[in-house]
Amino acid sequence: MSSIRTLLALEWTLWILTGSVWAAQPPNFVVILADDLGYADVGFHGCKDIPTPHLDRLAAGGVRCAAGYVSHSFCSPTRAGLMTGRYQHRYGHEHNPPYAPDDATIGLPPSEMTIADMLSRRGYVTGLIGKWHLGAAPPFHPMRRGFHEFFGFLGGGHRYFPEAWTGTTEYTTPLERNGQPVRETEYLTTALGREASQFVERHAARPFFLYLAFNAPHTPMEAPADVIARFSHIADEKRRIYAAMVSVMDQEIGRVLDTLRRCGVESNTLVWFMSDNGGPTPANTASNQPLRGTKGTVYEGGIRVPFVVSWPGRLPAGKVYPHPVSSLDVAPTLAALAGAEWPADRPADGVNLIPYLTGEQSDPPHATLIWRQNGSLPWAVRLGRYKLVQADAQTAPELYDLEADVSEQNGLSAQRADEVRRAREIFENWQKAMSEPRWQGPKSRRTDARSPARQTRPMSRSAEPRANFPQ
Ligand code: CA
Repeated sequence: MSSIRTLLALEWTLWILTGSVWAAQPPNFVVILADDLGYADVGFHGCKDIPTPHLDRLAAGGVRCAAGYVSHSFCSPTRAGLMTGRYQHRYGHEHNPPYAPDDATIGLPPSEMTIADMLSRRGYVTGLIGKWHLGAAPPFHPMRRGFHEFFGFLGGGHRYFPEAWTGTTEYTTPLERNGQPVRETEYLTTALGREASQFVERHAARPFFLYLAFNAPHTPMEAPADVIARFSHIADEKRRIYAAMVSVMDQEIGRVLDTLRRCGVESNTLVWFMSDNGGPTPANTASNQPLRGTKGTVYEGGIRVPFVVSWPGRLPAGKVYPHPVSSLDVAPTLAALAGAEWPADRPADGVNLIPYLTGEQSDPPHATLIWRQNGSLPWAVRLGRYKLVQADAQTAPELYDLEADVSEQNGLSAQRADEVRRAREIFENWQKAMSEPRWQGPKSRRTDARSPARQTRPMSRSAEPRANFPQ
């Protein structure tokens, strides 16, 4: 791996020397993903009981996308779309992958190219810190998917305190650094922030791409006691822990932002922050107000998330962008800014958002956005101000005017049959270009109560999370 990096560094040096493309160094990218953070649980969306000063300063210095969507209402498919800039349904990545370190068939298909692949080919140094969740078997390892460096874990979530990291199950494996287990002593969110900050320090002189994927505030609900104690004003015990988990994540994001400034690269670094899906309110107390629904649904509460793009000096500060944008836009935006080549045989579904966020282009970046789960249902289509939701096979399709009714309370299907028909046609045409799911989700595989997942459940103590984690 080190020889590859030497070659890449050499390639980059030659590129700079020839001066063929850039007068100045191309921008660095920091993509920060929260996990299961609710739409309403950030200060810049009005959260009152959990301060998020560092996320708020990021939003104040950049563009807050009020209709920022992810391409799926749960973890892994969103991450697949994020990495590829393509609807994950194109290549059958429609379920969470069961944790299967020995199964080389379950993960982000190797036929797909990731944004890390594209940027590393362009001379960027690339790093993933945190949660992968795109396959645990060797062919899917992040260092085989374009990342030069990896610190974190391969599964869909993780216990937060180091004493739990001695197992072999998804949530208890030791953390790894570049394929090797490491002995870590810090609270997980703190360790990820530390590593991200050090990545920036190490690579500040190079164009870099850092993908910082926190698993906070995903279950299990675990946080340092002294941080929980700061939230004694919150009556609900689970929400006190949630608040502490969010608070530590916010603090670590602040550490990364401070490091960018200290290293002198703040003005040349685009920082993109999102949650990977809406908040799963019953699991972790996340709030998606005023949106309807939670993680796992295609109502707004499942797919509309806190979403900020910041690039000091290049993007407006404190702007609220109203039109729908998507996590699918990350890869095309980064590729365009880096001048990276997009694979011609893999159409992107996202777009380069920069001209839209600067105001250079005033039309909406997406005529439509589409969601589908389980290979069929539920599905939804965003079409201008309208959204059609087909929640299940039994109920009639629901049409909402999101500009007037962001909470999806007033169904308009009867009054606006034309929009219903148009949205349905769009969905049916879209489906023709999509694939069937390549595997079933962990829940489907665990319908047998005596499944291996349950048999290998670690000996529980009272706070042991359930084996069947909502991911
Ligand atoms: Ca998630």
